[in-house]
Amino acid sequence: MKVLIIEDEKTLAYEMETFLKKAFYLCDLAHTAAKAAECIEMNQYDFILLDLGLPDGDGLSLLPKAKKHNPEAAYIILTARGNLEDKIAGLDLGADDYLAKPFSLLELQSRMQAIARRKFNVNAETVPLGDFSVNLQTRFIYFQVQQIELSRKEFDLLSYLLLHKNRVLTRMQLSEHIWGTFADDDYDSNYIDAHIKNIRKKLNTYAPTDWLETVRGVGYRIRK
Ligand code: CA
Repeated sequence: MKVLIIEDEKTLAYEMETFLKKAFYLCDLAHTAAKAAECIEMNQYDFILLDLGLPDGDGLSLLPKAKKHNPEAAYIILTARGNLEDKIAGLDLGADDYLAKPFSLLELQSRMQAIARRKFNVNAETVPLGDFSVNLQTRFIYFQVQQIELSRKEFDLLSYLLLHKNRVLTRMQLSEHIWGTFADDDYDSNYIDAHIKNIRKKLNTYAPTDWLETVRGVGYRIRK
């Protein structure tokens, strides 16, 4: 999952980044409201962590525009102000949760997991996928009791499609998810096709994978 960390306290921002990367999140950092607005316009995020006190503006005023560009993202407000008014204003503007500083990184992660369960239907239990079952926490995929070996990127790709099931994701969106943000020159949609081909090949040994659809000229979708 892709996360935008909007935080001007650099030490805290880097701590969050390091911690979340270890938990397999892809992170972009913005230390100013201007940089955050640019990231939000250019990318689709699953989580946006939003500090309210930024050097060039109030984080809250970013929220309406951010929700327009990233309507599917989950928003968590981070603020030193333990102020009830900020909290209410943030939740009124559609934030999903609120963390008062200082907070522990483990608490941040557990809030993110709770939101993911609620918003993206990520259960701690296994998720059925055709004749397979996927455990998004342990990152294992099974056919009956047989565990199937997928590479890290193959699993990332499959689980990302599963999180957005019934939605077509473009090759560009998938590439961004598994490689992070990169320049157009580095972008090669063949990588995604090659990974999808490998996933199908590995799983088809056990059972059909017709739930993984190629949408011609667009991208891929998991249909359930
Ligand atoms: Ca701040």
